[in-house]
Amino acid sequence: MHEQIIEQRAAALAAIASAESLDELEQVRIRYTGKKGELTRLLRALGNVPPEHRPELGRLVNRARDEVEAALAGRREALKARALEQKLREETLDVTLPGWGPLPGRRHPLTLVLDEIQRIFTGLGFEVVEGPEIETDYYNFEALNIPKDHPARDMQDTFFITDDIVLRTQTSPVQIRVMQERRPPVRVIAPGKVFRVDADVTHSPMFHQVEGLYVDRGVTMGDLKGTLSTMARELFGKRPVRFRPSYFPFTEPSAEMDISCIICNGDGCRVCGYEGWLEILGAGMVHPQVLQNGGFDPEEVSGFAFGMGVERIAMLKYGIDDIRLFFDNDIRFLRQF
Ligand SMILES: [Zn+2]
Repeated sequence: MHEQIIEQRAAALAAIASAESLDELEQVRIRYTGKKGELTRLLRALGNVPPEHRPELGRLVNRARDEVEAALAGRREALKARALEQKLREETLDVTLPGWGPLPGRRHPLTLVLDEIQRIFTGLGFEVVEGPEIETDYYNFEALNIPKDHPARDMQDTFFITDDIVLRTQTSPVQIRVMQERRPPVRVIAPGKVFRVDADVTHSPMFHQVEGLYVDRGVTMGDLKGTLSTMARELFGKRPVRFRPSYFPFTEPSAEMDISCIICNGDGCRVCGYEGWLEILGAGMVHPQVLQNGGFDPEEVSGFAFGMGVERIAMLKYGIDDIRLFFDNDIRFLRQF
C-alpha cells in the first residue's frame, strides 16, 4: 500500500502539471481526489490494514492528498490567469485608432460643374430654363434648320421613338421653345440630359449639355466672345482662349471655342493631341431662319447661341479620362470630389 500511495501521488501531480484547461484539470481532480478517486479509495482502504501500520500509512496518504489538492488549486489559478490574459488579448481595443464615422454624402462631379456653370451665367443675367427630353423631330431638327435630307442629321446618331418622336440629341430645341414663348430680350441657359447612339471612353449614350441663348437688338459676335471668354475664365482660370470658324446648321457664322491646354499650357501633350488647345464648346450667331422659326424678326433682332457638354468640361477640369466613371456609381471615384 505504501508504494500505491507513492505511485498515485506522483501520477496525480504529473497529470495536474500537464492539464492544459480547467475542464481537463477537473477530470484529474475527480480521478484522484473525487469521491471515487484513487487517493480517496486508498484512504478508505486504511481500515483493512493492520493497526500498527495505520498511523504511518494514514499520515502518508493524507499528506499525498493535501499535496495533490494544493497542486490542483495552484494549477487552477494558473489556468484561470492564462485564460483571462488570452481573452484580454483577443478583445484588445486600441482607442487611439480612428473610428468609423458615418460617410457623409458628396455632390456628384457633374452636379458641381453644372452648379458652377449656372452660377456664372446667372451672374451675367441669364435665366435657367428647361425643356422636354422627349422631343418632336420638328423641335430637335426642323426648327433648327436641319431638314429631313440634311447631312447634319448624320452627325448625330439619334434614338428614334417613332418616325416623328426622338430622345433629344441636343439641348438646342429649348432655344425654339423659349423664343416661341417670349419677346426679346431673351437671355437663358438650358441645362439637361441629351441622348445619342454612341458609347466609348469619351462618349456616353446619355450625357449633359448646357445650351445658351441671347437674343436682343444689336447683339454681336463681340457679345458672344466676351460672354464665353468670361465663362471660360471663371471655370478654368485665366488662360488664353481662341475661337475657330466652324459649322452648325442653326448658327451663322459658327465657331468653336478652345482654351489653352490645361495639362501642358499650350506646349502640346497627349491630352490635347499635341495641338496645345482643347475644344470646350460650339457657338455662333443664331441663324436668321432659326430666329424666324422662333417667331422673331431677323431684321429687328440678332442673337448668339452656344452649347457645351458638361461631362467634357468636368473631364478637363478634374483630369478624368473615362466618361463612364461618371455613371458607374463607384464610391471610391465619387468620394474624391
Ligand atoms: Zn496639352
